[in-house]
Amino acid sequence: MERIIDIFGLTLDQLTRTLRNDYGKGLFHAEALYREMFKNGGKNIGNAPEFKSSLKFWTELEKALVPVSGKVEETFKAGELVKFITRLRDGLKIESVIIPMTRHNTLCVSSQVGCKMGCRFCQTARMGFKRSLSTSEIVGQVFNARHTLGHDIKNIVFMGMGEPFDNFDAVMTAVNVLNSQKGCDIALRHMTISTCGVVPGIERLAQMNLPNIRLAISINGPDDDTRSALMPVNRHWPLAALKKSLDAYPLPPRGVFLFEYILIKGVNDAMDHARALARFIHPLPVRLNLIPYNPVTGFDHQSPSDEQMHDFAQTLTDKGIFVIKRWSKGRSVSAGCGQLGKI
Ligand code: SF4
Repeated sequence: MERIIDIFGLTLDQLTRTLRNDYGKGLFHAEALYREMFKNGGKNIGNAPEFKSSLKFWTELEKALVPVSGKVEETFKAGELVKFITRLRDGLKIESVIIPMTRHNTLCVSSQVGCKMGCRFCQTARMGFKRSLSTSEIVGQVFNARHTLGHDIKNIVFMGMGEPFDNFDAVMTAVNVLNSQKGCDIALRHMTISTCGVVPGIERLAQMNLPNIRLAISINGPDDDTRSALMPVNRHWPLAALKKSLDAYPLPPRGVFLFEYILIKGVNDAMDHARALARFIHPLPVRLNLIPYNPVTGFDHQSPSDEQMHDFAQTLTDKGIFVIKRWSKGRSVSAGCGQLGKI
C-alpha cells in the first residue's frame, strides 16, 4: 500500500512514531523534517544534512510526503491587512486574515467551513455549516501565510470561520503542532482560541493544562434575552452557565479572559447594556474588546455612532473594566469581525 505522510496534521510525537514504524527512523529525523518544513518552508528538505546522508530513506520519504492541503487562490489587501482565500482539496474554500500589529503579524485562522452556531451578525453563519477542518488544513493556513505569502506570523487567533470548540480535537492538535519549538514555534501565550460560549469546550480546555493559551469569549449581550436573540448558543448555555465555567477556569497568575463585544446600534448598545455587562463581568479578570458592527449582507443591523461607542466604553471603564475600542481594519475587503464567508 502506498504510504502517505501529512506532516501538517501530525504532532512531533505522531511523526516520530510514523517514521519509526514505517522506516525504522525516529526523533532525529522527525525533528529535521519539522524544521525543514515549518521553519524553512519545505523547499529543500533533501539537501538537509540529516537526509542527504540517508539518500535511500529520503527517496522513499519524499514519495510519501503530501504537500500543504490547500492552495491560496486569491488575496485581498486593505492597507497592511491581507485576507486570503484557500481552496481545499475537496474544492471548498476558507478565508484567513493576516492582521498587522505593532510588533508582529497575527493570523486569524478558520477552524470550519461555515459554522453551525447561527450568530445573527455573522457572514459565516449565513453560509451554513459545510464541514470541520482537519488539523492539516488548520496548520496549512499558517504555513501558507508564512511560506507562500511570505508574512512573519507570530500570533494566531482562532477567530476565523467556524466555532473552534465544535472542532475541538483537530484544533487542539493544531495548537500542539504550531507550538512545537522544532517547527512553527508559536508560543501558547501567542495563541488565542475564541468561542461563542460553548461551555463544554471551555471545560475541556480547562482540563488540558495549557494555562498560557488565551481564551476569548464572544459575548455581545449582557443578559440572556439580548444574547439569545443574537446568539442561539446562549439558549443551550446561558450566561449563568458561561460564568460558572469561567469562574472555574484555571487562568495563570495575572491572566485575563478576552471578551469581544460587537456593538450594534439599537440592539445592545444602550448604557443599561453597558452597566449589565459590567455586572456580568465582575469579578472576572477581563480585557474587553469593543468592536463596532461590521455590515453583513442579509442583516439590517447598523454600526453605532462613534459617540455611542465612546459612551459605552466610558460607562464600562467607570466600572473598572479594561476596555479597548477596536476599529475594524479589514472592513473594505470583508475581513472584519463577523464578515468572513462571502465566498
Ligand atoms: S460568530 Fe463565530 S461562532 Fe458565531 S456564527 Fe460566526 S463563526 Fe460561528
